Amino acid sequence: MIRMPEPDQQVLARRGEIIAALRRIVPGEGVVENENELRAFECDGLTAYRQLPMIAVLPSTTAQVAEVLRYCKANNIRIVPRGAGTSLSGGAMPLADGILLGMGKFKKILEIDLPNRCAVVQPGVTNLGISQAVRGQGLYYAPDPSSQIACTIGGNVAENSGGVHCLKYGLTTNNVIGVEIVTLDGEIIRLGGKHFDGPGYDLLGALVGSEGMLGVVTEVTVRLLPIPPTARALMIGFPSVESAGDCVAAVIAAGIIPGGMEIMDKLATEAAEAFVHAGYPLDVAALLIVELDGCAAEVDHLVAAVEHIATQHQAVSCRASTSEEERLLFWAGRKAAFPAVGRISPDYYCMDGTIPRKRIAEVLRRMTEMEQTYGLRVANVFHAGDGNLHPLILYDANRPGELQRAEDFGADILRLCVEVGGVLTGEHGVGVEKRDLMPTMFNETDLAQQQALKCAFDDAGLLNPGKVFPQLCRCAELGRMHIHGGKLPFPELERF
Ligand SMILES: Cc1cc2nc3c(=O)[nH]c(=O)nc-3n(C[C@H](O)[C@H](O)[C@H](O)COP(=O)(O)OP(=O)(O)OC[C@H]3O[C@@H](n4cnc5c(N)ncnc54)[C@H](O)[C@@H]3O)c2cc1C
Repeated sequence: MIRMPEPDQQVLARRGEIIAALRRIVPGEGVVENENELRAFECDGLTAYRQLPMIAVLPSTTAQVAEVLRYCKANNIRIVPRGAGTSLSGGAMPLADGILLGMGKFKKILEIDLPNRCAVVQPGVTNLGISQAVRGQGLYYAPDPSSQIACTIGGNVAENSGGVHCLKYGLTTNNVIGVEIVTLDGEIIRLGGKHFDGPGYDLLGALVGSEGMLGVVTEVTVRLLPIPPTARALMIGFPSVESAGDCVAAVIAAGIIPGGMEIMDKLATEAAEAFVHAGYPLDVAALLIVELDGCAAEVDHLVAAVEHIATQHQAVSCRASTSEEERLLFWAGRKAAFPAVGRISPDYYCMDGTIPRKRIAEVLRRMTEMEQTYGLRVANVFHAGDGNLHPLILYDANRPGELQRAEDFGADILRLCVEVGGVLTGEHGVGVEKRDLMPTMFNETDLAQQQALKCAFDDAGLLNPGKVFPQLCRCAELGRMHIHGGKLPFPELERF
């Protein structure tokens, strides 16, 4: 079970006074205090965990955000920023004594700057909304999480989100070139701008992926790319997940970087086919979808090259899209794979870990062994090109103990990812979900360095506390935390 910081009773006792103060800063309907209305914010995409926030605040200007943060700091109140609440790692999970800072009203596209091939947008604009706004100019925003219809660019920045096209075009961190943030002191600062590689420390690099712990993003400048003139997708069936994994490694080894390269195992393929009827073959153990984009001659050449590699890796079926409708249909099942799996199991737990590509086959085999140990099934859907796994562990929350078993299984999968040279997360962030696994990957010095950075922005530990870091480590304790002979210092201190 995930533990969160104990609510501060002194803060809770002042709730009425805090509401009144916040109403002065954000008038009208900007402060939500009623229990029924607060329910809308009680969880994010990690739906197994729920917590009503003390209050929700919905500012609509940067000045209001700054004033709210200044007030919170002066009054020792915790803050959880929130975009669309689709985080799968519990990053936007509220705190009982905290305010939920909803950024949903920041949904303006401020500028489309064609000469500089970028757009300046507010953080509540959806990921897909950016591409839709510039489609007429033949441009798009490349990172495309499957949740792109709902998730916000502010949430994408905080989680360093990825998607199918990130293999070729990079993650959020490679496509966001500037942000405006408000610090806990209420200071409004700009990092980066309309050009790459500004002077000074790479604070933009630190901010992207910081999970709402360093500041509140109030404006984002994103890079826009030209829509490739041609894109074709290949749908390739394999007799084993291993052969599909080996084919992925061979494509990359041949110097081909597809626009996207995704694997679904048998269970995920069957679920997706039953849901969207994309024409997926049901007699294969793994389905690989490869997209190749560029000018038409180049794409035709690459399609032939990938077909050849697939044949060398025991492919049993291979279809190349011949029209845009067909290409989209090939992707429809993959894009809808999560909800499709939701139709075949009362609950599922979506994991996110990354491994070196050449270990894909081995990791999938060991995961199959773990299915026996835990008595739970796994549907695998993943960004194979960049080794980013999304095992979906099927369970039934109504059966006593099954959620715990699913979580233990998930933790073992992530430990396996680290063991084979990978990392705990690919794109969903650490949040509360993987917080306690951080020591699997980072040693005490690593974590202290990360916390030192956090303290430089937020020495009071008020911005999104209880997330990412495995234990309470106040800034004042930094450098004094030594574990000797396996004995934890200050064992009487509460850690979460
Ligand atoms: C069905 C489904 C499919 C998904 N597919 C993908 C995928 O393919 N790839 C992928 O990467 N993710 C995916 N996700 C996860 C999720 O959509 C992303 O993590 C997304 O970036 C979260 O955006 P959000 O607006 O919902 O943020 P929220 O969930 O509201 O918040 C996420 C984090 O960002 C912080 N935050 C939000 N806004 C701000 C702000 N303005 N300033 C500072 N911090 C902020 C929050 O505190 C929290 O820590 C998926 C989720 C679902 C439900």
